[in-house]
Amino acid sequence: MDCIFCKIVSNEIPSVKAYEDDRVLAFMDINPLNEGHLLIVPKAHAATIYEITEADFLAVMSVTHKLAAAVKKVLNPEGINLMQLNGRAANQVVPHLHVHIVPRWSGDGLTISQWEMVAGNMEKIKAVAEKIQSEMGNAE
Ligand code: AMP
Ligand code: ZN
Repeated sequence: MDCIFCKIVSNEIPSVKAYEDDRVLAFMDINPLNEGHLLIVPKAHAATIYEITEADFLAVMSVTHKLAAAVKKVLNPEGINLMQLNGRAANQVVPHLHVHIVPRWSGDGLTISQWEMVAGNMEKIKAVAEKIQSEMGNAE
C-alpha cells in the first residue's frame, strides 16, 4: 500500500524512532511544532479512528501515556497537547492514524488548542446528546 507511515513502520522510509513494540511505533515528527514533537502509530494500517481496531487504538493510547511521562522527564514541558485528527475536514494530512504529542511551554507562540469560546444553544446541545445516548444504547 502506498502509505508513508506504513513505509516508516516497514523501514522503507527512515524515521527517528522513540519507541517500538509488537503493535505500535513512535517516531519524531520531521516538521516539529516544538522540541519533542512525537507521532504514535499502529503498525497495522488504519486510516482513521473508524478503521482502527479497539485493541490497536488502546495500544496506541497506552504507549502515548508512557511517552508523555518520558517526555515530561526528558524535556520538562509546562504542558502537553495530544492531537489525533480524522479526515480531511479535521485537517488530517497523512491517512494512517497517528497521535501527536506536542510539548508546550507558555509563550511558545503555538496557536493549536486556542479557540474562541462562544456559548452554544442548549436545546441543540441537548438534542444531539440525546441522539448520541440513544445510539450508544444508553437512552433513559
Ligand atoms: P496530520 O495528518 O495533519 O495529523 O499530520 C501529519 C504529520 O506527519 C505532520 O505533522 C507531518 O510533519 C508528519 N510527517 C509527515 N511525513 C513524515 C515523515 N516522513 N516522518 C515524520 N513525520 C512526518
Ligand atoms: Zn499505513
